[in-house]
Amino acid sequence: MDEIIRAVTSDGFIKISAISGRGLVERARQIHNLSPVATAALGRTLCAASMLGDLLKEEDASVTLRVNGGGPIGTVMAVSDSSGNVRGYVQNPHIDLPLKANGKLDVGGAVGTDGTLTVSRDLGLKEPYIGSTALVSGEIAEDLTYYFVESEQVGAACGLGVLVNTDLSVICAGGFIVALLPGAPDKLIETIERNIAEMGQVTDILQNGTADDLVGRVLFGLEPEILSRRTVEYRCYCSRDRVQRALESIGREALEELAASGESAEINCQFCNEIYTFTPEEIRLFLAQSEE
Ligand SMILES: [Zn+2]
Repeated sequence: MDEIIRAVTSDGFIKISAISGRGLVERARQIHNLSPVATAALGRTLCAASMLGDLLKEEDASVTLRVNGGGPIGTVMAVSDSSGNVRGYVQNPHIDLPLKANGKLDVGGAVGTDGTLTVSRDLGLKEPYIGSTALVSGEIAEDLTYYFVESEQVGAACGLGVLVNTDLSVICAGGFIVALLPGAPDKLIETIERNIAEMGQVTDILQNGTADDLVGRVLFGLEPEILSRRTVEYRCYCSRDRVQRALESIGREALEELAASGESAEINCQFCNEIYTFTPEEIRLFLAQSEE
């Protein structure tokens, strides 16, 4: 079961979100038939998006994380609802790169650093809130940390990790985002920095542990109080209605052409690969209805 927990230190200066997301990353891997490095890149991004979604206060809101670094994986995209349920995709799901010298998957090499990380929060208002920063390493966690500091002026640190088995399945996945509230004493900041430096890899902890263990390690010695616990999953919101509206948005002329071709239009959802088929008769019906 995937879970996000949120906690705060007793002095209120430090807030943390931590996720254990093996199930949702494994689901993404199966849907998109991801290579190991693509599993790691999308998995880290999905876990980050899920934690940001869980922090949204508005119902029916969503947050989109888009990473575009010019590397061979192309765009990495993850969307979370306001309960932390996520969906996502990468442009090139099958790319394969040599492991790095330290034996880790080369997420930075796949993503690239010639581009941006963009966070878009749709709160149901006219315009979404969009912030964007240049990529630092393409490893996602570092890029997100830089984003918080530069774009949202929040002192933050982030760790993300996905461990892939030799049979390509996900062994563990997850991470944390820790935020320092204004006025946090230097000593507290030093403690957090030391804890993060000494805790090792996120995946080392999650391999035998939980999101609680991540919180315990990042906030070691600071008596964290758990604020909330929430089960999250990979969840797509596509439906025939939504796909139909997207199809109709291509315009009358294109629809007429499509209907005249005599062949059915097949549209597959980028997030879950569900295939929606529309026959020429159905397309003609949309055209007739939109005339009314
Ligand atoms: Zn879908």
